[in-house]
Amino acid sequence: MVMEKLGDSLQGALKKLIGAGRIDERTVNEVVKDIQRALLQADVNVKLVMGMSQRIKERAMKEDPPAGMNPREHVIRIVYQELMEIIGKGADIQLKPQTIMMVGLQGSGKTTSAAKLARYFQRKGLKAGVVAADTFRPGAYHQLKTLSEKLNVGFYGEEGNPDAVEITIHGLKALEKYDIKIVDTAGRHALEADLIEEMERIHAVAKPDHKFMVLDAGIGQQASQQAHAFNDSVGITGVIITKLDGTAKGGGALSAVSETKAPIAFIGVGETPEDFEKFEADRFISRLLGMGDLKSLMEKAEESLSEEDVNVEALMQGRFTLKDMYKQLEAMNKMGPLKQIMSMLPMGMGGLGGVKLSDEMFQATSDKMKNYKVIMDSMTEDEMADPKLIGGSRIKRISRGSGCSPEDVRELLKYHKTMQTALKGFRGGKFNIQKMMKKK
Ligand code: GDP
Repeated sequence: MVMEKLGDSLQGALKKLIGAGRIDERTVNEVVKDIQRALLQADVNVKLVMGMSQRIKERAMKEDPPAGMNPREHVIRIVYQELMEIIGKGADIQLKPQTIMMVGLQGSGKTTSAAKLARYFQRKGLKAGVVAADTFRPGAYHQLKTLSEKLNVGFYGEEGNPDAVEITIHGLKALEKYDIKIVDTAGRHALEADLIEEMERIHAVAKPDHKFMVLDAGIGQQASQQAHAFNDSVGITGVIITKLDGTAKGGGALSAVSETKAPIAFIGVGETPEDFEKFEADRFISRLLGMGDLKSLMEKAEESLSEEDVNVEALMQGRFTLKDMYKQLEAMNKMGPLKQIMSMLPMGMGGLGGVKLSDEMFQATSDKMKNYKVIMDSMTEDEMADPKLIGGSRIKRISRGSGCSPEDVRELLKYHKTMQTALKGFRGGKFNIQKMMKKK
C-alpha cells in the first residue's frame, strides 16, 4: 500500500480508540498524540500537525456526536474530517477535450507521468496523445516515444530539433484530431530563469487549458516551496505527485501542496503504467485509515456482481460462515485481483483484526482460494453453515470428495477462522463507516 507506514501508525492510533474502555479526555489526548507522531514522521509540517491536533481535541470534547453515532465513531469521524482538511479536496478533472502542459523539475517523473496521464484519458474513452517538447534532457524523446507506443497513445516528436516551441506548434497540429493533447516540457535541476522563459514561450503557443506541475513526493514538505515557485512564475492548475510508493515523506508532500491551494490532480504510486491514480482525498484517507475504500468497492461490486451474489457489506458483518466465505470467493473472483479488493476493505482485514497479509501471501492466497472452492464444493449445506460440525471423519470424507489432502481441508477451516476473527476485530456491525465519512 502507498504510505504504508503512515497508514499503519494512524490505524494503530484508531485501534487504541476502538479498544479503549471509555472515550474521555485522556484517551483522546493519547490518540491525538499518536496521530501527531505519525504525521510528523511522514514529514507533515509541525504547525499543520499542531493545529489539527488542537482541533481534534476540541471537537472531540465539545461537539456532541450526531444522532445514531457512538462516541468512538464520532472521534474517528473527526479525525477523518480533519485529515481531509489538511490534504485538500483534489482537482476537478473533466473528461472533455483539452490541452495540458506538463511542467516540473528534472527527474520529478514528468515524462513518465505525461504518458500515464494520456493513458488515463484514453481509458476513459478520449483519444489522447503526447508531444515531446522536452529538448533539454537527453533521452526524453526516446523515453516518451517508447512509452507512448507501449501504452498505445498518440505521440509527436522531432528527434534532434532543439526548438521546443517549434515542436509544440507542430505537435499540436499533428495531434489536432486528438481530444487530449499533453505537452511534455523540459525541466531543470532548479527553477532557473531560462526554464521559466522556455515555459512561458511554450505556454504562449500551446495555450493550455491546464498546467500540471509534476512533483517528487520524496521532497516532503518542501513541496510547498516548489509549488509556490512554479505557481508564481507560470501558474499551475493541478499537481501530480509522483513516487508516493517510495518515500516516507508522502504526507508532507501532499499536505504542503494542499496548503498552496494548487489542487492535487493525480498521484504516481509506482513505476508501472497502472500505478497512477486520480487523486481523490476521501478515498485516499479512507484507505490510509484502514476504513476501506468503500465507494470504489461498491462501484466495483456493482459493475461486476449480479443480483444473487452476496453483498460486499456482508463482509463487514460479524456473521461469517463458510457459505459466506464461498460466496465472497466467487464474488472476488469476478471483481478483480484479490490484493486490490483487500486494500479497499476496512481495517478488520487490513490490520485491526490483528491479521496482516503480506504481498507474497496475497499471491499464495489467490491460488489457494481456487483450491478452497474445490474443497467447499464437497461440503454439505450444513457444514457450510456451521463449520464447527466438521470433525476428523468429515474432514477425511471432504478430502476424498475434493481430491485434496486432509491438511488442505484443515487449512481452509483455519483460514476461515482467521477471517472470522479479523472481521470480529473490526467489530463489523458496530461501526457504520459510510455514516462516519459523511460530511459535517
Ligand atoms: P522527468 O525528468 O521529470 O521527465 O522524469 P522521468 O519521467 O524520466 O522519471 C524519473 C524516474 O522516476 C524514472 O525512473 C521513472 O520510472 C520514475 N518514476 C516516475 N514516477 C514514479 C512513481 O510514481 N513511482 C516510482 N517508484 N517511480 C517513478
